[in-house]
Amino acid sequence: MSNPSTLTTSLQKAGMRVTPQRVAICELLANSHEHPTAAMIYEELKPRFSSLSLATVYNTLDALVTLGAVNVLGHAGDDTVHYDADTEPHVNLACISCSRIIDIPSEHVTHLDAEITAASGYKLLGARVLYYGLCPECQKKQIEITRN
Ligand SMILES: [Zn+2]
Repeated sequence: MSNPSTLTTSLQKAGMRVTPQRVAICELLANSHEHPTAAMIYEELKPRFSSLSLATVYNTLDALVTLGAVNVLGHAGDDTVHYDADTEPHVNLACISCSRIIDIPSEHVTHLDAEITAASGYKLLGARVLYYGLCPECQKKQIEITRN
């Protein structure tokens, strides 16, 4: 998990105005384990900020991604882009049925970073390791469907 103030500081450095709406977007991203999409962030914050637009959510997310403060995860079978404010090495596990994405901490990812740095000479800025599968709940649902 990352710190909301790290995200707002990044926006400030990029010359963006840190409005209460943008602070709320940063807080939501930093405190969420749900890897929200832009639409999820918009729906969640709209009741608090009636003037919030989806465009504000997108341009804030774009800025954070460009600054390397937030990772883009791509879609998880639902054709919408998910965002991850945790830029520390970890594995993302996506359920292809309910499109939920969870984090799995893995020291192997840290070792993999070192291996790739040594092999390539790159200065790594981040990593995205995404596994696909069926979550335990969706496996249960699938068993129930095949029974009926
Ligand atoms: Zn699932």
